[in-house]
Amino acid sequence: MAAYQIDELSRDYLNVEIEPPDITRFAAGNRGVPYAWTFDGLAPGPRVVVLGAMHGNEIAGAAILESLLDNGIQPLVGQLSLIFGNPAAYHAFDPSRPYLGRFIDVDINRVWGRELVDDTDDRAEVQRARELLPIISAADYLLDLHTMQGVGAPVALLTRKPATIEFVSGMQSVPFVLSGAMHQADRVRLRDYGRFGDPTRPAVAIQVEAGQHWQSSSIATGLKIVRDFLACAGLIDRKGPRQAIGQKKLTIVETVLPEAPFSFVADFASGTYFPERGTLVGLSGPDRTEIRTPVDNCYMIMPVHFRQAGGSCCRFAVEA
Ligand SMILES: [Zn+2]
Repeated sequence: MAAYQIDELSRDYLNVEIEPPDITRFAAGNRGVPYAWTFDGLAPGPRVVVLGAMHGNEIAGAAILESLLDNGIQPLVGQLSLIFGNPAAYHAFDPSRPYLGRFIDVDINRVWGRELVDDTDDRAEVQRARELLPIISAADYLLDLHTMQGVGAPVALLTRKPATIEFVSGMQSVPFVLSGAMHQADRVRLRDYGRFGDPTRPAVAIQVEAGQHWQSSSIATGLKIVRDFLACAGLIDRKGPRQAIGQKKLTIVETVLPEAPFSFVADFASGTYFPERGTLVGLSGPDRTEIRTPVDNCYMIMPVHFRQAGGSCCRFAVEA
């Protein structure tokens, strides 16, 4: 694995506040798939899947699932599956180097295309994806819950299609919705697998980034997002009145791929708004080339503090 670039700002993000929960007690699952727990409602209804800890170092996701399971979450209707996405990578989490361990062999959020049917591909994450396929393929609504390297408001990542946009518009826990050309667009993400990526089909898959990987506040943020998602899918009652949040639907205008070394000029949170084009945000490469906002009225989404060669440092997006 290529070395990570750690700068002064990265070091501020190394504080792991969350004690990674022991998830081995959930290893058996309850329907034959390891680390997957499925619960039936009292009446027919949609099949809903929630995945967390798809990346091994996203320990908030494991804590969120643990809380839901320990509190005996029960769907009113339909069926709910809670899945620890990548337990092998999760077990390798090292709090002294928390930016490592996102996967064993390959990013599990990039293997949902031809990898699944390639018999010669036995990488750990491809095998785990195949193991989950019976549950994933049957889902009407899927929430792929992640966390991010920077702080900031939750952001949903999705491919625009009518059913998905309509669904996410009802999620008051998600102030930002991002779509557009993603990095490594040739490798299929879970949210675009099968029916989820087909604009003519109603199945909905949304990836949501619920705060910073290792901040304890991300657990409460993620739980709120899961409950919101389940309420929007009709599986649980919504607590409290629905609130209008002025959700911003953004389209990516630029994914910034800097040279090493790169540094931000300030600690920008995801969702930071820049009114003017040309605002300095970072310095890239040995010549310290200035990275500036590409257009007026743009937002910085998901600043990256632990970068590998070829990796992005952030995305700029505008209201669609
Ligand atoms: Zn992730």
